[in-house]
Amino acid sequence: MSRTFYCRGQTGQQLLLGAYGALCRQVGLGRVKMFPRTEMLDLVVAGGRARGIVTRNLVTGIVEAHTADAVVLAAGGYANVFFLSTNARGANATSIWRSYRRGAGFANPCFIQVHPTCIPRSGDFQAKLTLISEALRNDGRVWVPKRRGDTRSPDAVPENERDYFLERMYPGYGNLAPRDLASRAAKRVCDHGCGVGPGGRGVYLDLTAAVAGLGEKVLCERYGNLFEIYERISGENPLHTPMRIYPAPHYTMGGLWVDYGLQSTIPGLFVLGEANFSDHGANRLGASALMQGLADGYFIIPYTLGEYFGGAALGEVSPSDRPFVEAAKEVEDRLARILAVQGKRTVDSFHRKLGAILWEHCGIIRNAAGLGAAVEKIRLLRAEFWENVLVPGDAADLNQELEKAGRVADYLELGELMCRDALAREESCGCHFREEFQTACGEALRDDRRFGHVAVWEHAEQEREPVRHVEPLTFETIIPAERSYK
Ligand SMILES: Cc1cc2nc3c(=O)[nH]c(=O)nc-3n(C[C@H](O)[C@H](O)[C@H](O)COP(=O)(O)OP(=O)(O)OC[C@H]3O[C@@H](n4cnc5c(N)ncnc54)[C@H](O)[C@@H]3O)c2cc1C
Repeated sequence: MSRTFYCRGQTGQQLLLGAYGALCRQVGLGRVKMFPRTEMLDLVVAGGRARGIVTRNLVTGIVEAHTADAVVLAAGGYANVFFLSTNARGANATSIWRSYRRGAGFANPCFIQVHPTCIPRSGDFQAKLTLISEALRNDGRVWVPKRRGDTRSPDAVPENERDYFLERMYPGYGNLAPRDLASRAAKRVCDHGCGVGPGGRGVYLDLTAAVAGLGEKVLCERYGNLFEIYERISGENPLHTPMRIYPAPHYTMGGLWVDYGLQSTIPGLFVLGEANFSDHGANRLGASALMQGLADGYFIIPYTLGEYFGGAALGEVSPSDRPFVEAAKEVEDRLARILAVQGKRTVDSFHRKLGAILWEHCGIIRNAAGLGAAVEKIRLLRAEFWENVLVPGDAADLNQELEKAGRVADYLELGELMCRDALAREESCGCHFREEFQTACGEALRDDRRFGHVAVWEHAEQEREPVRHVEPLTFETIIPAERSYK
């Protein structure tokens, strides 16, 4: 049995090339107009429908309102709220967060997937984490020294002093255990003091047995490019020294609520891909993005968008209409407000701090006390941001600090909603593990009677608390039950 089939990272690469190729063809035919280096900073709602967006040209700083018959958002997930994640640095939550503030429901914000096989962070000033494909768990064995604080090199730790904790905890699946269980187990052994590498935040992924059994040549054929990435970052050859891995935020199952036609709670706003909440619940299967890309983009939206146009009496709108002018003005005012603070603390330092709070309290393991404290800490941090952030330069120019500041201001609100959502869900399920709700053997204790629903949050103006709605889930053929990988 394999955890996943790895073809040298080429699936996603080829999909991207295919998608770009198809897009460029449409651009060439004059049917698509591209706005490179442009960021959406708000949604325009007119007459109760999504009728456009506000963008900022990242090079010239020009803020513009664009009109539309409908808006289709495919802006990805929000794992970068944690500061360090496996996501691209540019990935951000602004478009979905601003849409939420305009009235779109936000579903299950606390459902985030933490991936167990990432290269551990090496210091405080690292900007990004690198994912190493979990295909390596097909052939690698995960372990830590049994003794706490053991700093011996891995080859000096004899077999009987090693804890192959996934094999011990989940004998039926061993190193192939699902992402959430493997991540939680790794965190627990590190919290216990058995972690390896700098700061004790790492576990070994050891290919020694596979080298002996399959040989280096076969392993290099399977994972050669991963070995190269790892060696470039860590300076160690995984064929000779066990790799060090640690869990990292990777994917967000929460997102804007959509119906089966991918329409949000704002008529005319459609949300596709990781930006929406659909398909997953509290867990996400690896490789689901390929399926969702096809389903959302190819099989659903071409039909549901047409149906929307057919059923909606859409009048003409113009960028000079009041909702567009007001939305653009709000964006400009907000940028000006950020620039006007001229405090002493960098944008990154706020983001890093927010990430640390979320990782500690709303990450792999959560509890009520921690989540309550996190809400307060985030509020204080947000207040400090608006009094003490330092953004040099101005808005009428290329200004990456300003871009980041806008995104971090949104994360500081989204992070609070994630904690509220996790606090309100008094059960454990999938990625959402509340310490208070666990079985006798430490697994997730579900409460489908009280929480068998999607939590959909509605923004409330003027600093009032957001409203939590529920959409009940009904199961007709398969009834949810406690998972067991023993
Ligand atoms: C390292 C890594 C490895 C992965 N491996 C796999 C895998 O093997 N299999 C799998 O199925 N999934 C994998 N995933 C997950 C998968 O890549 C994503 O879920 C998927 O790409 C999401 O697609 P999307 O089109 O919804 O969003 P994205 O691919 O994230 O695209 C969103 C786009 O919107 C842009 N954008 C965001 N905000 C704005 C804004 N305000 N204005 C303008 N543009 C904006 C972004 O820059 C980006 O170009 C992986 C993810 C990562 C990070």
